[in-house]
Amino acid sequence: MLEKIMEDFNWDKVMEEFEALTKNAENVQKETLKQILDENGSAEYLKNSGINGRTDPESYKACVPIVTHNDLEPYIRRIVDGDSSPILTGKPITTISLSSGTTQGKPKFVPFNDELMDSTMQIYRTSFAFRNREYPIKNGKALQFIYSSKQFKTKGGLAAGTATTNVFRNSQYKKTMRSMQSPCCSPDEVIFGPDFHQSLYCHFLCGLLFRGEIQLISSTFAHSILHAFRTFEKVWEELCIDIRNGVLSSRITVPSIRTAMSKMLRPNPELADLIHKKCSGLSNWYGLVPELFPNVKYIYGIMTGSMEPYLKKLRHYAGEVPLVSADYGSSEGWIGANVNPKLPPELATYVVLPNIGYFEFTPIMDNIGPDTEPLGLTEVKIGEEYEILVTNFAGLYRYRLGDVVKVVGFHNATPELKFVCRRNLLLTINIDKNTEKDLQLAVEEAAKLLAGEKLDVVDFTSYVDLSTEPGHYVIFWEVSGEASQEVLSECSNCLDKAFIDAGYVSSRKVNAIGPLELRVVRRGTFQKIMDHYLALGSAVSQFKTPRNVGPTNSVVLQILCTNVVNSYFSTAFK
Ligand code: AMP
Repeated sequence: MLEKIMEDFNWDKVMEEFEALTKNAENVQKETLKQILDENGSAEYLKNSGINGRTDPESYKACVPIVTHNDLEPYIRRIVDGDSSPILTGKPITTISLSSGTTQGKPKFVPFNDELMDSTMQIYRTSFAFRNREYPIKNGKALQFIYSSKQFKTKGGLAAGTATTNVFRNSQYKKTMRSMQSPCCSPDEVIFGPDFHQSLYCHFLCGLLFRGEIQLISSTFAHSILHAFRTFEKVWEELCIDIRNGVLSSRITVPSIRTAMSKMLRPNPELADLIHKKCSGLSNWYGLVPELFPNVKYIYGIMTGSMEPYLKKLRHYAGEVPLVSADYGSSEGWIGANVNPKLPPELATYVVLPNIGYFEFTPIMDNIGPDTEPLGLTEVKIGEEYEILVTNFAGLYRYRLGDVVKVVGFHNATPELKFVCRRNLLLTINIDKNTEKDLQLAVEEAAKLLAGEKLDVVDFTSYVDLSTEPGHYVIFWEVSGEASQEVLSECSNCLDKAFIDAGYVSSRKVNAIGPLELRVVRRGTFQKIMDHYLALGSAVSQFKTPRNVGPTNSVVLQILCTNVVNSYFSTAFK
């Protein structure tokens, strides 16, 4: 059976197909748009646009407006509530994805269908073909920190879950993972378990039982991988006891997980001793990954954008094991594949796959003034930044994804993108303009001051406090241990000075913006924030810490404020 599946994928052929598609990007885009519009011409949304069966890019741009999720919400709502007439697509939508929603404060509903599943597998196979050339995997298993979110039926009877859940549940997914010689080492009961804390514990247990076979450690986003290893520091002794006695810890209470895990466990004191010895011999957990999993080739997950702040700590655990960023996409569909796996995640780029959607790029003019006309995929310029508009096979037309990307080169005729940040401004009071990236850089700079005390920032977010006059920026930090008051005061000064946009600096100088405030929160606060999102239906696999808590996230703000241990106002600009 396995040989049969292996035959289905000829990795050289996958790369050849990718080369052909990217060489012919302009025509492939036109063809893709035509196919989308032909398939969905009967949909009410397209009919009302007046496009009238035309499928060329010019007519499309002239008739169909650029939209946000809010604009489509009434249409999606009808689908979710069970209206099966052709609303956004020709064929009815039967599955809904919940985006992580961490930027808006609540999950969004997005249509999902077989075509999105196919493009997911296409992008997985494409980047794997390139990765496998550099880091070949043979007869391996993967320790995948993946978790399914709760799946439920909408009022109208549609299956709903996070996009990753829809993917993990699909039979094509397993087939593809097997073809990549990296099936997940954990049984389905663990992946689809109802309690992620228990699933995480069992993922580790499975990984340790198969430690010699593990060649890949992965998750959708790097945050989950880091979270897993931070948890390991707390539970490793208990894991050793389970392995020694061949009996599962009483912390695992879900019956289906207990049954599945019990089948795998046998008393193995030698393995328990070995792991115990390895963990005890490490200094501050440096190089934990290769100690536990000696044959692991690389660690894989999305590592760019809001995941970058976790790289330092992840490298600490990884030692010499390379970190490779996974592809670029969203619940709304995939966009680009990482075909240069040797690049460190900070430099990772994504080559747009021209047949998985129709892509347009709105030039970013520093967020000032109205947007100019979007450009086509092959018209973009190297060095410029754009917001992506997606047209996909699942009923989204000229949809603003809200991400800013920079074109850093071309692979054949297709642009290679670097992810920059979400487009919305995180921090702005008057003329100041700071994005997620600006915040990240400021935190990175100030966190250097903690390194002297062997501490790091576990996680962070921000808030604009307008309750005082003038308003000021508040940065929340969870720190890995006790830092001195002096150092934290210095950190608040450093943060204040690290926002270098002219609007902020000039406002600070004349006190039109008050001194920046650093609020240090208790250990575990960001875990509480994640738990809050999980309760709303998000999946750990897709979780991204919101980097700003605006008025829509009042619960998160409350969690933060009730956990503040100390706060430090900057004395810079005095
Ligand atoms: P969601 O669909 O809610 O899980 O999140 C999709 C969002 O995650 C995208 O719009 C991006 O902002 C972010 N994202 C996805 N892939 C990447 C990537 N490779 N690099 C940086 N950010 C990413």
